[in-house]
Amino acid sequence: MRYVEQQLADLSARNMLRFLREIESAQGPYVQIDGSDCLLLCSNNYLGLADHPLLIDAACRASRDFGVGSGASRLVSGSMSLHHRLEDAIAEFKGTETALLFNNGYAANCGIIQGLFGPDDVIFSDSLNHASIIDGCRLSGARVEIYPHNDMQALEEKLSEAACNRRGRWLIVSDGVFSMDGDLVPIESLVELKERYEAWLMIDDAHGGGVLGDRGRGTAEHFGCLSQIDLQMGTFGKAFGSFGAYLAASRSVIDLLINRARSFIYSTSLPPGVVAANLAALKLVDSAEGKIRRRQLEENRRLFVDRLQEAGLDVCGSSTQIVPILTREPQPTMDAAARLLDRGICLSGIRPPTVPVGRCRLRATLMSEHKPQEIVAAADSIVGLLQEMEADV
Ligand SMILES: *Cc1c(COP(=O)(O)O)cnc(C)c1O
Repeated sequence: MRYVEQQLADLSARNMLRFLREIESAQGPYVQIDGSDCLLLCSNNYLGLADHPLLIDAACRASRDFGVGSGASRLVSGSMSLHHRLEDAIAEFKGTETALLFNNGYAANCGIIQGLFGPDDVIFSDSLNHASIIDGCRLSGARVEIYPHNDMQALEEKLSEAACNRRGRWLIVSDGVFSMDGDLVPIESLVELKERYEAWLMIDDAHGGGVLGDRGRGTAEHFGCLSQIDLQMGTFGKAFGSFGAYLAASRSVIDLLINRARSFIYSTSLPPGVVAANLAALKLVDSAEGKIRRRQLEENRRLFVDRLQEAGLDVCGSSTQIVPILTREPQPTMDAAARLLDRGICLSGIRPPTVPVGRCRLRATLMSEHKPQEIVAAADSIVGLLQEMEADV
């Protein structure tokens, strides 16, 4: 037992201890914490769908008609009509032959990469890719070549070096929107490289789906190259407001994953209510209302970023609804987050290992539901606090 207490004391001494904050209300632009309302600036519920009446109705109806549990994994007896309907709807949305549901994005990335690649293969992975991609690469046993974040020249050098002694199949894998920096992958360059070097291309669009592109089909739609991505992974837990994940791909890739992806095979499938909420979310994202919500989100983002940049803050090249504010060291970062919470603003302080050492930040995420004046006031509070703190040292 001493080991556990020592580890905790050590984390605490280094300002690296993590803890859970209890949210006492539904997920909206404001949430209740310790009995008071706070402006929520750290949710992935970008379009405000987590408590949308259409999703709630769909979940309730499906739960009444089909129960709250799926009873088994898909390959046993848990492959219900709703799962198949949602997979058809995803494939149509993304323009692929078919799609496969996973229980969440973490399980999807682990299952997809482990299921399709093995020790004879090579995976080229961006240095800022999500932890679930990193874990999927480890599970696959493939050789992993990590290239510096969004550095296409460095990636090309790695590809051409590996080409001298080519073996196995190659995968280039990247986030579409990077979850800690809020910047976009230069997807057209990846498409060009994957074609030139005959590699597969996988994009994890957890933060781009629902938000980017005219119809909300994500980063690839934004850049006009949906049809060129071999493996389109996305999630339902963020802009879609619910829970779950998918891979949209060719029929043969999906058939192989049904046979190989361990996180798919050995886990109970998503419950009917969640699947029905996802169907409703998909329909909503691809509607006039979805478009209006995307526009509001973009307007809020613009307001917020302009205000921070006018005050000279570094937003790490963000061009999306994820807006980091660089604070560098753990102590000031966590102090600032705590003091903002006292002022009724909830956002997260991010430390290693989630980001590199010396790159701690406050990470704000915006919602279409925020009112412009709330966003401006929040930006002013953040600027004011960081200036106060700087004056203190
Ligand atoms: C959140 C996230 C995941 C994990 O998705 P969950 O459905 O929350 O498990 C995977 N990849 C990226 C880039 C993410 O941001």
